[in-house]
Amino acid sequence: MHYVSTRGHAAAQNFSEILLGGLAPDGGLYLPEKYPQVTGAELDQWRGLSYADLAFEVLKKFATDVPAADLKALAHKTYSAEVYRNARAGEDAGQITPLRLLEEKDGGKLLLQGLSNGPTLAFKDMAMQLLGNLFEYTLAKNDAKLNIFGATSGDTGSAAEYAMRGKKGIRVFMLSPHKKMSAFQTAQMFSLQDPNIFNIAVEGVFDDCQDMVKAVSNDHAFKASQKIGTVNSINWARVVAQVVYYFRGYLSATTSNDQKVSFTVPSGNFGNICAGHIARMMGLPIDKLVAATNENDVLDEFFRTGIYRVRKSAETYHTSSPSMDISKASNFERFIHDLLDGDSERVRALFHKVETAGGFSLAGGPGSDGDEFAKIGRFGFQSGKSTHQDRLATIRDIEQRYGVTIDTHTADGVKVAREYMVPGVPMIVLETALPAKFNETIREALGRDAERPAGFENIEALPQRFEVMAADVAQVKAFIASHTGL
Ligand SMILES: *Cc1c(COP(=O)(O)O)cnc(C)c1O
Repeated sequence: MHYVSTRGHAAAQNFSEILLGGLAPDGGLYLPEKYPQVTGAELDQWRGLSYADLAFEVLKKFATDVPAADLKALAHKTYSAEVYRNARAGEDAGQITPLRLLEEKDGGKLLLQGLSNGPTLAFKDMAMQLLGNLFEYTLAKNDAKLNIFGATSGDTGSAAEYAMRGKKGIRVFMLSPHKKMSAFQTAQMFSLQDPNIFNIAVEGVFDDCQDMVKAVSNDHAFKASQKIGTVNSINWARVVAQVVYYFRGYLSATTSNDQKVSFTVPSGNFGNICAGHIARMMGLPIDKLVAATNENDVLDEFFRTGIYRVRKSAETYHTSSPSMDISKASNFERFIHDLLDGDSERVRALFHKVETAGGFSLAGGPGSDGDEFAKIGRFGFQSGKSTHQDRLATIRDIEQRYGVTIDTHTADGVKVAREYMVPGVPMIVLETALPAKFNETIREALGRDAERPAGFENIEALPQRFEVMAADVAQVKAFIASHTGL
């Protein structure tokens, strides 16, 4: 299986070669030359598999250069009941992504697929835990080292740290805005005592942190000498790991392959739902893929109008589903590549226009950049948006009717999913975080705290380990250089 850039960079690479990299050299994102296909016979065989064995079967189609026995061992090490132990009472942790029926109405069914039972209580663990094991495996094989450098406003940084803690050959340097994360998120990250994890609390806001990551990324000499890498959401292995749970959800919600299901996905960077798109392109019988956004509705606007218009920082709202406060969907280019039937020249031109003019239109008509929006139906996308008031109302409603507390991002999903339910096609909402992570809004909605999984009761009281630093690139670089152990 070879990988190429969405912008046409020709040198085909294999899975292991793109594992540690980010963008392709031409600024595009990696995609397989063509999507591997699944047959009905394979789906039948996969129905009875454990999550780890299913992950192995799916990953094998993409990581053809990794020896099968090694890949299988990595899948089993990653997807175990010990790692995904934060399942709700009554759920089976061994299922890894348990499926729960929420609602049956007018012949429609609404199900919740729990993706947030991993160590940091958000779906990013599903991919990041695999990435940690894949990195360690690949580095050991090449006797190499990697220093991961990133910025976080919450979920990604903690998922990366919990995936990389204690891993040989890997150190993590994570910037976060000092005193700007929730108490829970701060405690989750800063209470890690592993010597390979370095938390840097920056005196500034998230954008300052991200600017410093960009500055370091542009310093190629420093990056090379300090063996700096990233784990951001465009990483191909992360996307592939997410493809697996669409298969699991489908197989758990159906009894035969002539049935279809739809998924609603709380979306920000388009990483999660991009994996659903890939599963569908592989032949998984998915009817609709519904993108749910919050007030930051860049994606909803595109799927309604064919116009992609990114927002500036000042136009990006801080909402109560903060992990979706995104004004530019970093994985979107992968879908546009498929919508344009792989015309990489045009992909390059469109995303150049995003940088220079803030967007593009595929709606057809005068001044637009193409008319492909007219043919978008074949990809099954739908979309909707949700507001703070919708979140509160949905959290209350689901709690009152079904006794289940959902987090704010999942609430955006449920709100939008209910607008697209049809008889005979189960609608699966992906649960992207547990409510304990966003307790402030749970209190506002329900007047009480969210339940916390065992082991998280006193997390804020644990000793914390972090460095406070000015928003100064030189200082951050000096810190990294003196702690990489190179
Ligand atoms: C990251 C995140 C999202 C958005 O996922 P994308 O892959 O960026 O679309 C949604 N909900 C939660 C809780 C997240 O952490």
